[in-house]
Amino acid sequence: MIPYGRQDIRQEDVEAVLEVLQSDFLTQGPQVPRFEQAVAEKVGARHALAVNSATSALHIACLALGLGEGDWLWTSPITFVASANCGLYCGAKVDFVDIDPRTYNLCPQALAAKLEQAERDGRLPKILVAVHLCGQPCDMQAIHQLAQRYGFKVIEDASHAIGGKYQSEYIGNGRYSDISVFSFHPVKIITTAEGGMALTHDDALAERMTLLRSHGITREPHLMTHAPDGPWYYQQVDLGFNYRMTELQAALGVAQMTRLDDYVARRNALAERYDTRLAELPLTTPWQHPDSVSARHLYVIRLDLTRIEKSHRDVFESLREQGIGVNLHYIPVHMQPYYRQLGFRQGDFPQAEAYYEEAISLPLFPTMSDAQQDEVVVAVRSAVSVQAS
Ligand SMILES: *Cc1c(COP(=O)(O)O)cnc(C)c1O
Repeated sequence: MIPYGRQDIRQEDVEAVLEVLQSDFLTQGPQVPRFEQAVAEKVGARHALAVNSATSALHIACLALGLGEGDWLWTSPITFVASANCGLYCGAKVDFVDIDPRTYNLCPQALAAKLEQAERDGRLPKILVAVHLCGQPCDMQAIHQLAQRYGFKVIEDASHAIGGKYQSEYIGNGRYSDISVFSFHPVKIITTAEGGMALTHDDALAERMTLLRSHGITREPHLMTHAPDGPWYYQQVDLGFNYRMTELQAALGVAQMTRLDDYVARRNALAERYDTRLAELPLTTPWQHPDSVSARHLYVIRLDLTRIEKSHRDVFESLREQGIGVNLHYIPVHMQPYYRQLGFRQGDFPQAEAYYEEAISLPLFPTMSDAQQDEVVVAVRSAVSVQAS
């Protein structure tokens, strides 16, 4: 089976992790700050906080931005559930903005219209989570303008997007958002096994997230509400969590970061190969914004079912049967039973639902060979062909 995504672990990664394993610190040592600095310097962020997952990063990002009961968080329905769940963790309500049928990211026009209505209804969002689906950046300038006009905060869920660029600057630099989040799950662009990061330009937000990452405990006298009892003193000043990344993970992250640009370049080369080889088939290949560089986490095709005499499911199953580890990113979040029980219904976000009827993610990872990719192309051709049915 050719998987849809796969990590690249080399000897130098193994050695970096082994070295930490034999060192004094397995956690809370020098590797985490080293990894944070490597990422912050690469993408041009002032602060970077490594945590144990992007989900944790989204949670503390929402808390640091003050999200709570009675507030609204908006995001795209075409994302991993974590982009929305972070709102529910904080006791807030979640709503969605339908996608742009060309980019599959949340549509800025739909956002503008929904904000206008929300202002009239007195239910403007406190936070918008902008998801850079497949690595393609959202229209951050448009989102930023709306954020200023309506007074909401912006989190970039850049779980798919480390190493990509928006208007020639690395994603995560925070020019148009308050906090950006990366994921280092093995299928993502670089990996720390599990792991994530929150990045921000704002000193106060960084301080708040640092506390929340580690139990709400500080040893910094200026953050304490009461004078220290003595040199041993630490104080809990907030209700935090243990969302820390280990030293092993951070060392792996440092090693992986040295290959970030190579990974993104190889992913783009493979994506362009798919584009040409699939061009004649009854499907839509991913549209790319000329203004940005996608990290190409996923390569999603949309079937033209009017020209294929098979169902979406038949094509998907045919690919799996041919040994191609296709997947579907994502089931619209509002259609999950958990979200339906909150009141969402089929028909709420028609563009997202239409996407779900047609989308298939093809294998894409930096160590995929041209030969493997050609195998995928042959399988796709056969799966969508009329004769094979
Ligand atoms: C993978 C992913 C997450 C969650 O990342 P974890 O590190 O697994 O917690 C969140 N949002 C999106 C869009 C993702 O793809």
